[in-house]
Amino acid sequence: MIHLVDAHNHLGDWSPDASQSYETLMARARERGILGVGISDHYDPNCEMADGSAWTFDPKAYMDTFYPRRRMPSGRKEGDPPGFLLGIELGWMPETGAVLHDVVRDHPFDFSIVSIHYFKNLDPFTHADEIYTSSLHKVYTGVIQAIADSAEDMAEANIVGHFDFFSRYAPERDSKMHYSHAPEAFDRLFRIMVKNGQALEINVGTVNSLMKRKGYSLKEAMPDAAILNRFRELGGRSFTICSDAHHEDQNGLHMKETMDYLKILGIDSFVWFEAGEEKKIEKRGPAFRDE
Ligand SMILES: [Zn+2]
Ligand SMILES: [Zn+2]
Repeated sequence: MIHLVDAHNHLGDWSPDASQSYETLMARARERGILGVGISDHYDPNCEMADGSAWTFDPKAYMDTFYPRRRMPSGRKEGDPPGFLLGIELGWMPETGAVLHDVVRDHPFDFSIVSIHYFKNLDPFTHADEIYTSSLHKVYTGVIQAIADSAEDMAEANIVGHFDFFSRYAPERDSKMHYSHAPEAFDRLFRIMVKNGQALEINVGTVNSLMKRKGYSLKEAMPDAAILNRFRELGGRSFTICSDAHHEDQNGLHMKETMDYLKILGIDSFVWFEAGEEKKIEKRGPAFRDE
């Protein structure tokens, strides 16, 4: 058993840009030999896809569908199916904070991830030419400051999602995000996260995106060690790692290699949240297997 809960995944029936099914997600979790998985579909109020479909779901219907299927990874016994947790990815913008506070207060999610998908009301996929108008230093500083604002406003969010999301769509060939792009902004973000007890997400979806879109090698695409080290230097203790899978072929893709890389940096345990409570394997039990 690998003591990992991959808790950032999207389902086709609930996120407009996803196609994987609950059944596929669970079957892949079993094949991967991981402790559990979580779902965290998009909840970005006021945002629409090009075809007009909403980036939100009906939280009550989500609860009705999935709450009875929860299985706590911490209580998993030999022979049990993988754990299953119910989360939400909150797409934050300054003007939607109030709606997001309500949705997490009113529904018993195991965890919430706060993410930024829009910068200055523009999504980087369709409006790259309007977002990336200055140096990467400048753009990434603005983005990390916005993520810091989101972490500060959504203090109840358990996880800060994909800090490096905007590196996927920058027009520069060498767009990987480094600490040196925005040191002051990263420091502000990490201080807020430490105060709030929020976990830093390592999003393997960005690794895969940099390889696919920018031609990075797997090694080059790994997250900048200086960013992760700085989080720890400022007191950050909690990391999550996730596939951010939208489609079956992204599920677990390059997770093992990313974990190997992180282990060299001394990051070898990852947290998850059950009913809002942080869980962590402090010491590897006999069930842990290095692969
Ligand atoms: Zn996201
Ligand atoms: Zn996501």
